[in-house]
Amino acid sequence: MKILCVARNYGAHAAELHNPAPSEPVFFLKPDSALLPKNQPFFYPDFSNDVHHELEVVVRIDKVGKCIEERFASRYYSEVALGLDFTARDLQQQAKSAGLPWLLSKGFDGAAVVSPFMSLSSLDKGIDNLSFALYRNGERVQNGNTGDMLFSVDKLISYISRFMTLKTGDLIFTGTPSGVGPVAIGDVLVGELEGRQLLRCRVK
Ligand code: MG
Repeated sequence: MKILCVARNYGAHAAELHNPAPSEPVFFLKPDSALLPKNQPFFYPDFSNDVHHELEVVVRIDKVGKCIEERFASRYYSEVALGLDFTARDLQQQAKSAGLPWLLSKGFDGAAVVSPFMSLSSLDKGIDNLSFALYRNGERVQNGNTGDMLFSVDKLISYISRFMTLKTGDLIFTGTPSGVGPVAIGDVLVGELEGRQLLRCRVK
């Protein structure tokens, strides 16, 4: 199983980190060991002093596909979740400055939090019009709608499947809206999708 993540898929987030909006999707991977086991807290790692939350909509691939045409992409998923793409921003900045890969800043243990999945049919909304929000200790810090993605879910699937076979169970973190920021030990992070609390994560 692989965890594909998209960088800079919301214009306002690209701008807040002083990155240009990309002309094609930018993907990176997290290893499956990055998945935070269910109901476990996120333990703040000792190699970073600046871990950021990035709340994202996560899509799970339902069947194997390669070179998927955009118009058929919706046949390859039926459920969505919320995820946290925890990022050691200090390590990422060092890597970016040196022109080196982001892997360690995004791929460490616990850096991928995934909520339970909901079927799109139960949400009664299209994948391109889902609102989601992150609350840090009760205060709303991120607020997005998948309609604001630079590259839609179907476009992302079509694009990446030209390069990599998508397999059942693969996850796609579809990018974070603006409002990313640091977390601290003791924080409680709550994510809502369409007003429903789906994700809860304690930082220890
Ligand atoms: Mg992200």
